[in-house]
Amino acid sequence: MSLTYANMPLDRCSNQRKNTRWLTSEFNHQATLFCIINDGMSLFADDNSFTPIYLPKSQLDGLSINSCIYLGKKILGKGPQSTESTNVRSLFAVDFEKLRFSSQEHLLNLGQWLNLREATPNLTVLDASVQALAKALVYWHNTHQFCGKCGSPSRSVEAGHARRCTECRNMTFPRTDPAVIMLVEHLFPDGIARCLLGRNAKWRAGMYSTLAGFVDPGETLEEAVIREVLEETAIVVENPQYITSQPWPFPASVMLGFTAVATSTTIDITKDDLEDCQWFSREQLAGFATGANVGINADSNASTNVETNVETNVEANAETIDDTHQFKLSSGDSISSYLITAWKNKDIGQY
Ligand SMILES: [Zn+2]
Repeated sequence: MSLTYANMPLDRCSNQRKNTRWLTSEFNHQATLFCIINDGMSLFADDNSFTPIYLPKSQLDGLSINSCIYLGKKILGKGPQSTESTNVRSLFAVDFEKLRFSSQEHLLNLGQWLNLREATPNLTVLDASVQALAKALVYWHNTHQFCGKCGSPSRSVEAGHARRCTECRNMTFPRTDPAVIMLVEHLFPDGIARCLLGRNAKWRAGMYSTLAGFVDPGETLEEAVIREVLEETAIVVENPQYITSQPWPFPASVMLGFTAVATSTTIDITKDDLEDCQWFSREQLAGFATGANVGINADSNASTNVETNVETNVEANAETIDDTHQFKLSSGDSISSYLITAWKNKDIGQY
């Protein structure tokens, strides 16, 4: 099993990109491509093939290096291919709003703009990772235009991987909010192991997911696991074990996957915002519908709550969901789905 958005085919060239001469050379190279992000959405071919479109500089009138964010250099044999060149060198991300009107018009006629998660089931794992990186960095620039210290405008520096205040010179760096997400298990007296899954009222009918929450300042990841489960369900857990992580640029998180063992079993969801929470056996999970290709629009930037960030605004797709009473797994691109499936297959957990 492989986690979506977690297969980066680019070498970020973190040292080289700070060198202006090197960066300019990459920017001007004819094999360099540009990934455009428009209001959080990515550009795809118009033919429903969900092929992401990366453009050469020749198609982006008057493009300024100062408005571009360096993503990385393609690792040989991996990653996006241009329709015009098979010899991709470097990739940059650009905010659509930073383009000249003539380029914007050109792009609007070139393809369709889609939320990344809508296209993800049809993308290669490599393209999904590149698009996620571009989306995360463009979002960060858009939401950090001013200095957090003195309030003056800041400007992009270091190939788009930092911003410096134009007045006090304060530097800020791309922000990623850590969130823990945990598969909680318990071996019941009947000898059957069950895992704890909850659902938010905003999710599509029948969908259940692992519990999740943001890490507080001054808190270890393990403490966050224990606190979040207790807050949401009143279940006491111990022994959090780290499993894996996933970039989650919806809008700016990294999901840190854990297992934990429950020492209590009585669920109380009245203190938090879950609509329901239940214990499910592996046998029950086997009857869940998978969420790999359901209609999703989980891209709200407004929410500060990770549970709703994880699967917010999930819209039922009439073509794929015909039984609203059936239990369903969270969508296939999520670490939640990964953890539940791994536990079901006995690849993780104690029981
Ligand atoms: Zn400042």
